[in-house]
Amino acid sequence: MADERFKTMVVAREGDRVTRKIVERSLEDLPAKELLIRVHYSSLNYKDALAAAGRPGIVRRYPMTPGIDAAGEVVHCGDGLFSPGDRVVVTGFDLGIALPGGYGQYIRVPSNWAVKLPEGLTLKESMALGTAGVTAALAVLKLNHAGLKAGCRDVVVTGASGGVGTLALSILAAEGCRVVAVSGKPERREFLRRLGAAEVLGRQDVQGPAEKGLLPERWCGAIDVVGGRMLVDVLKATSCGGAVASCGLAGSADLPMSVFPFILRGVSLLGIDSVHCSMGTRLRIWSKLAKEWKPPLLDEITEECPLGDLNNKIEKILAGQLSGRVVVNMQDI
Ligand code: NDP
Repeated sequence: MADERFKTMVVAREGDRVTRKIVERSLEDLPAKELLIRVHYSSLNYKDALAAAGRPGIVRRYPMTPGIDAAGEVVHCGDGLFSPGDRVVVTGFDLGIALPGGYGQYIRVPSNWAVKLPEGLTLKESMALGTAGVTAALAVLKLNHAGLKAGCRDVVVTGASGGVGTLALSILAAEGCRVVAVSGKPERREFLRRLGAAEVLGRQDVQGPAEKGLLPERWCGAIDVVGGRMLVDVLKATSCGGAVASCGLAGSADLPMSVFPFILRGVSLLGIDSVHCSMGTRLRIWSKLAKEWKPPLLDEITEECPLGDLNNKIEKILAGQLSGRVVVNMQDI
């Protein structure tokens, strides 16, 4: 095993020039951590695309193998937490950020980053969910904690055709909420309805006059992945006592607004961080994702891609043109 060679994507950055190559590495090139995993599948998240494009503020140091998600089989575990052959999932922490990530056929990580694949999910399905699924589930848990009850009336999901969006929509529908999807892709409207959206709005349908501190109350909760003006308008239209989970910045990292929704309607803004969430929360989330929150249309949301074709998908997700989830087959190069 010691000198086994494997394929991995390596992103290098020299000044403004970024290159992505599939190269060979040996197990000895991996960091000295307890858990060696043979990766079967990874996935493509927006953050992976930013890392693969060499955007600042994501990866600690280039060259780097991106991939914040990985699912596979344990080859060796130095501290006995897992046994060879166990099927495990790793999402977040520093995977693909500071340690070589899921776009390599092997990873070596701290053993307390991994969870056992829950019964009810295949390795491929776990990556169809991946960080996007953990994020969507964490947002729903936090909304529930903030008082959003199962079956409540309108909850809005922005960036609804994307990875986090489709899964958030699906989980909220499973919770019996009336879900309003916001999407910039008219051609995905019908599919979003099939996923469980009661109503699909265009991005412009959410916009109100910038000078208004509040807008008419339209929903009791929201999951936002877009940020910027979209998040501002969603907050301004959230009803008294409602809560909004902020997950992303696909549109903008800014938040240009007044405090009126917070102090005049008691609206709560909930921060969602899937990277550092506790192991207890992760286990709870994976157990729900494998059962009552498992999206019935998970296969249809997901597209499989061999590592060798990933470049094209990376460009598409950066351009906001991808829908649903991409699972990367790491054994098919
Ligand atoms: P995707 O690219 O799959 O989805 C993002 C969606 O947002 C797009 O499909 C599009 O949906 C919409 N969108 C894209 N660009 C714009 C724009 N300029 N203005 C308005 N809407 C836009 O990404 P992910 O689902 O993987 O991630 C979404 C966001 O969540 C990212 O910012 C990501 O970094 C963040 N994230 C955060 C996590 C956390 O722990 N907090 C974890 C995972 C992701 P449509 O066309 O339907 O409108």
